[in-house]
Order: sequence, then C-alpha cells, then structure tokens
Amino acid sequence: MQIQTDGEILMKLKKIIVALPFLTLLSGPAAMAAFSIPGLTNDPNPTDSTAGNGLADLIPGNTNIPVSPPQNHPVPVTPNNPVVDKPVPTDIWWGTPPQDNNNTGVLPVIPLSDEEAATLLHMREEEKLARDVYLTLFDAWDAAVFGNISNSEQKHMDTMLSKVEMYDLVDPVTDDTVGAFETEDFAQLYDQLTEKGMESLEAALMVGGLIEELDILDLQQAIEESDHPDVIQAYENLMRGSRNHLRQFASQIESLGLIYEAQMMTQEEVDEIINSPMERGGRGH
Ligand code: MN
Ligand code: MN
Repeated sequence: MQIQTDGEILMKLKKIIVALPFLTLLSGPAAMAAFSIPGLTNDPNPTDSTAGNGLADLIPGNTNIPVSPPQNHPVPVTPNNPVVDKPVPTDIWWGTPPQDNNNTGVLPVIPLSDEEAATLLHMREEEKLARDVYLTLFDAWDAAVFGNISNSEQKHMDTMLSKVEMYDLVDPVTDDTVGAFETEDFAQLYDQLTEKGMESLEAALMVGGLIEELDILDLQQAIEESDHPDVIQAYENLMRGSRNHLRQFASQIESLGLIYEAQMMTQEEVDEIINSPMERGGRGH
C-alpha cells in the first residue's frame, strides 16, 4: 500500500522552486535598502562605548571596545556602511570572522549577493513552513515525532534568523503565528499540506517526508549558489537535520507496515539517506 501526495501539492512545490529567481528580482532593491546600520552612523554618543557600536569603538587603539555585538547589529560591515573602507582590527571582530589572508589587518567586506539574500529569506520561511505544519499535525495526531521535529525546526528557524540579522536583511517572518506567511505560496502550501495531513496518520507522515525532501533539495541548491562559508555551514547543519527527519518519518511509515517512496528526490537519493544511520553533530538535531 502506498500513500501518494496530491499532484496539486507537488505542482505547488515545483512552482516555489522555479519561482526563486523571480523572488530574487523582487527582493533585490529591498535587500539593498536594508544594507545599513543606523547604530553605526547615528550613534548619539560615538565616544561612549557603553552606548554600543559607535565609530569610536572601531578605531584601532581604542581600548573601550565592545566585547559582544549589540542586539541586531552582529556584523559591523554592509555595503553602505562608512566603516567599510576603514581598517577593522581583527581583535574586535564579532560574528563569523572573514579571513585576513593577506595579513593586512583589514577584513574583507563580503555582503550577500541579491540571489544569496533571496535564498536565505526563502529558507527562513521554508523552515517556518516545516515547523508550523508539524505543530499542526502534532495537535491532530499526538504523535511524538511531530512534536520532536517541530522543536528542531524552531532551531532551524533561529539559525536562519541569525544569518538574516548578520547580513542586515529584513526578516520575512513578521508574524510568528502558526500558518501565517508573508509569501503567499508558503501560505497556500501550509493549507494544502495540513489538509492532506489531516486525512490519516500515514498521510501526515508522508507530508513530513515530502517537506524534508523539499528542504534537502532547496538546501542543496542554496549551498551550490553560496560562496559564504558561514552561510554554507548553516545550510549544511539544516540539511543534516533534514536527513535525520526524513529517516524518522520513513521509519515511522515503515513501522506501520508501509514502504516510504520518494516524493520529490530520486528513490536512490532517498534510499541512500534512509538506509544510513542517524547523524550527530552541529545543530543538526
Ligand atoms: Mn529544517
Ligand atoms: Mn526538517
């Protein structure tokens, strides 16, 4: 016996994937407009390090340097940031440090490209889709797997948010309510996937597997497109989590006497994952 997902849902998923370049165009100017750190340019007390992130804090030799980043301003470099062209001593760097390969004492400024920024925002919402669908299916079926994995998805959302803030982008998650999405395609997917998952526990577990396959495919593409090691590392951690989640959903389906069939990935790719052991490490969960 097989549980098949609606063709309509699959079409929607494919639409979301092919829509990525389009989203990139839309978010380009908005993403660029987001590249500023008011705290750096408008600090009313630039010599007072306790006010946080003043220009004086970034001058070499200033001993009153902040030991941790002010909230929401984890990286003191953006395209429009006046500090960009000035030397930034490595000992006051925070966040993920870029490499000073030429030993110039000046750290390179590497903002995300428009494409990378759009992908990051897309993944932030996709992790919310996973969390919200699992929370709803946990309510419906009281199966521990949905509760456990929704906790993991919350951590994935947090990881993406930390990168959104690090690169000074605008968080697309403006409403944390379950089922609320800024992007209409995600809102529709949430409705369709939860409706499907309400049909039976088996259908709910297949919806879980579908979301994980989608997540893995999108993360693979995101990793290929990125040249930021810290962002790639974050995606790798999320993808390890997704592989573990896929293993758990497949295992639950098989414990019901069913066979897990690939829904978006190839069967070979899925088999390689679900026939290998759970992975540990990082924030994979
Ligand atoms: Mn995830
Ligand atoms: Mn997952």
